[in-house]
Amino acid sequence: MTTVYIALGSNLENPGLQLQRAVDDIDSLPEVELSGCSKLYISEPVGPEGQPDYCNAAVRIETTLEPLALLDAMQAIENDHGRVRTVHWGPRTLDLDIILYGDDIIESKRLTVPHYQMHVRNFVLCPLLDIAPDLTLPDGRKAAALLAEVGTAGIEVVATKYPWL
Ligand code: ATP
Ligand code: CA
Ligand code: CA
Repeated sequence: MTTVYIALGSNLENPGLQLQRAVDDIDSLPEVELSGCSKLYISEPVGPEGQPDYCNAAVRIETTLEPLALLDAMQAIENDHGRVRTVHWGPRTLDLDIILYGDDIIESKRLTVPHYQMHVRNFVLCPLLDIAPDLTLPDGRKAAALLAEVGTAGIEVVATKYPWL
């Protein structure tokens, strides 16, 4: 079993509900055991202007799935939620990013882990720290120290305990 952290994001079609259903979908995967769930956040969008605010959260799972099989499973759930890929960083019903996969460092065509922007995104770091306050990256950096650098501007808690809605 490997401990994995997944970041969830949505800013279309009832984002909070999209995320809550996505947590259930992840938990329902036969090779996955949910071991933690963050608070639910609302955050200001990055990327193209004029898109709705995002809901964000994170989960911790224990899984026997190899990294690419896990990515396939996450993308299948995104597709089930009606994800359509148009504009880069544009609005979406569901985004599931693999943030950490154990202490693995992965640099392949389809997968970069740790997620290449986790250290600069407070909407990823805040929920991660809910689940794992002492979280350390494979390179030894502390997630809490990264968040202290980035700050918490533009992000707010909407609900604390899962199920959020
Ligand atoms: P960002 O990656 O900056 O958060 P995004 O989430 O909008 O942007 P997507 O369109 O969802 O990007 O994904 C583009 C591709 O990124 C995916 O098809 C996938 O192969 C690749 N990818 C690389 N590393 C990861 C990762 N750690 N988790 C999820 N997808 C990844
Ligand atoms: Ca993303
Ligand atoms: Ca993504």
